[in-house]
Amino acid sequence: MPLALLEPGSDAVTALYLVAVVLFILGVRQGTHPTTAKRGNMIAAVGMAIAVATTLLFDGIGNWGLIIAGIAIGSAVGVIASIRVQMTAMPQMVALYNGVGGGAIALISWSELRHALEIGEALPLDTLIPILFSAVVGSVSFWGSNIAFAKLQDLIPTRPLKVPGQQILNALLLVGIIAACVNLSINNDDPSQAVFIGVLIAAALLGNLVVLPIGGADMPVVISLLNAFTGLAAAAAGFALDNIALIVAGTLVGSSGTLLTLEMATAMNRSVPNILFAGFGGAPAAGAVGGGEERPHRSVGPQDAAIALAYADSVVIVPGYGLAVAQAQHAVKEMADELEKRGVNVNYAIHPVAGRMPGHMNVLLAEADVPYDKLREMDEINPEMPRTDVAVVIGANDVTNPAAKNDPDSPIAGMPIIEVSEARQVVVIKRSLSPGFAGIDNDLFYEENTSMLFSDAKAAAQEIAAEIENL
Ligand code: NDP
Repeated sequence: MPLALLEPGSDAVTALYLVAVVLFILGVRQGTHPTTAKRGNMIAAVGMAIAVATTLLFDGIGNWGLIIAGIAIGSAVGVIASIRVQMTAMPQMVALYNGVGGGAIALISWSELRHALEIGEALPLDTLIPILFSAVVGSVSFWGSNIAFAKLQDLIPTRPLKVPGQQILNALLLVGIIAACVNLSINNDDPSQAVFIGVLIAAALLGNLVVLPIGGADMPVVISLLNAFTGLAAAAAGFALDNIALIVAGTLVGSSGTLLTLEMATAMNRSVPNILFAGFGGAPAAGAVGGGEERPHRSVGPQDAAIALAYADSVVIVPGYGLAVAQAQHAVKEMADELEKRGVNVNYAIHPVAGRMPGHMNVLLAEADVPYDKLREMDEINPEMPRTDVAVVIGANDVTNPAAKNDPDSPIAGMPIIEVSEARQVVVIKRSLSPGFAGIDNDLFYEENTSMLFSDAKAAAQEIAAEIENL
């Protein structure tokens, strides 16, 4: 029995796509809160399964052997990679997935062009223009995401890599791409495949050249932006293929990616152009004044920290990137449990760009079963800081740096911070006085009410928990 059961554009297909689209939207909605995010993911995945199954049941879908092999290989790689990936490596995994999406869209555009050439039909402009848009944006996204992946994975240097004459080269490539697309559109009755391939190659070069000069630490924002691009390319492909599910899914990705990019930029108090063109991050500076001499600071051990915490009424834990690196979330939860056993009120202050990807801290702490109502957003917790006995900064740095508020010349000037300095006492757990992502010294470390506990975050949290238990 032939598997082709559905006619593209039929009522049955429209109804099934509608179900898929509703599930996508519900999934995205549920993704907005940690308690429902997992379910949201599952709902959206069911929606995607329905959309894919519907499309595969189209009349004349093609070579089933290849399709099944593709699904099997893709699923195997996806499942193994998702199980193995560390939370700290999540941004590069997203980059890779996003790149693959962009590449797939560019290939679909190419195959649509080839199909039209094979059957000798002119491509109407309302089909050809979305095809060209998908090809260009999909190719930029594929290559740009690959560079982002390579930087985050340390396969290439993470520092901004500048090519001489970069801006002029980019402008020339863009003009060339536009000119080639105009040529293809004018000759839409017989568009040249060679010119189309030229467009794909030029867009590939552009993707590389735009992302190479961006510092590795800004990659999460770049990935979010490229993700938005992939969404728009998919939506355009949906117009070319007259596929409503692809149009809606692409638009959802495009709009949510754009909003996320803007939110990340706002939380860093930087503009998107500044992130793309300033080559920010990685400047050396490490707790030193002139000649490498260290500024005076107070250093404590786990026992002192345990005493300060155990006899407090209220403690706020401020997690940052170092907590993710040390995989300290479970140890921190154990430390908090010990404190709560003694009647201490413990909360977690979550900065929107703590860590290296949006929601990084929420995901890590959720993994350790920290109750969601204990995770307090920056704007909510800051007013409570003056009434907090001890703020424990664990592997966070930039997101607590008072220079953002006090020094208009600081690279992070204006970035909203968790105002830990306002707490009665501050304990900072990190391995050294080294700077964080922004590459700048943190005045917090030298304030009178700050004690530095130099240690790996996980080891320190475990030791403090043991000390509290023995008190
Ligand atoms: P930071 O990058 O400012 O600092 C992290 C600190 O963690 C380092 O100073 C490091 O100090 C410490 N650390 C590293 N490993 C360990 C370990 N094993 N144990 C204990 N400490 C450790 O992190 P924040 O979270 O405070 O700030 C995030 C930064 O990243 C911001 O500047 C933000 O703008 C940027 N960013 C965030 C994005 C996001 O989406 N979240 C996206 C892009 C950028 P030491 O080496 O001394 O231990």
